[in-house]
Amino acid sequence: MAEVLLSSVQKRFGSVNVIHGLDLHIPDGEFVALVGPSGCGKSTLLRMIAGLENVTQGSIRIGGRDVTDLDPKDRDIAMVFQNYALYPHMTVAVNMGFSLEHRGRPKAEIAERVRWAAEILGLSQLLDRYPRQLSGGQRQRVAMGRAIVRDPQVFLFDEPLSNLDAKLRILMRGEIKGLHQRLKTTTVYVTHDQVEAMTMADRIVVLNAGRVEQVGTPLELFDRPANQFVAGFIGSPA
Ligand code: ADP
Ligand code: MG
Repeated sequence: MAEVLLSSVQKRFGSVNVIHGLDLHIPDGEFVALVGPSGCGKSTLLRMIAGLENVTQGSIRIGGRDVTDLDPKDRDIAMVFQNYALYPHMTVAVNMGFSLEHRGRPKAEIAERVRWAAEILGLSQLLDRYPRQLSGGQRQRVAMGRAIVRDPQVFLFDEPLSNLDAKLRILMRGEIKGLHQRLKTTTVYVTHDQVEAMTMADRIVVLNAGRVEQVGTPLELFDRPANQFVAGFIGSPA
């Protein structure tokens, strides 16, 4: 667990300003949803926290450490994407342990971490299966398993449920929320689905064209939207 601190973070692609001097403090253990319309900069912001995109100006601290110029692998974060790709020729167990193996961890430790993650995610009986032998929900759980085996300081999710059907999406919302309640890992969860944000997050950050419109609990945003944009965004159906 660790707090995440963004100070005057700016991102330009060429001459286009995508994120405008953004300040954000995410306390230790909090689940924050980052919402806003398509193209407002959610993924770019998340990718900067992950280190997959460099910061044009400003700084990012995780757990008190300035990580602005660090490689993704040195940041102690784990990211779950929308288009998570499992390795088709590897079993569930090998898929889940891969990042630890890649980091040269001892075999016994990897096996122990994989067992632990599998138990949390209800995958214990499926460790020897191959991805093609799994349902969509099970595959999504394996993708989460890959993220949690390392017990990172921060989880970053980029619309992880948007490829699932409506029923499974609702089920997985509950699972991710349950995982957070159990592990209390600081989480930044990007979604364009306001219902998802309202039901899952401790606090919601509403982003519009690279600027923060409002930060607050779901209730605060619902009861006292700061402006018409927030009201429209929170109030409209997904
Ligand atoms: P969101 O995730 O909220 O839909 P993005 O962060 O993906 O938005 O994109 C924000 C803006 O930045 C968009 O206008 C997008 O076209 C632009 N953008 C994203 N990545 C790049 C890139 N690598 N090069 C140029 N422009 C980009
Ligand atoms: Mg995006």
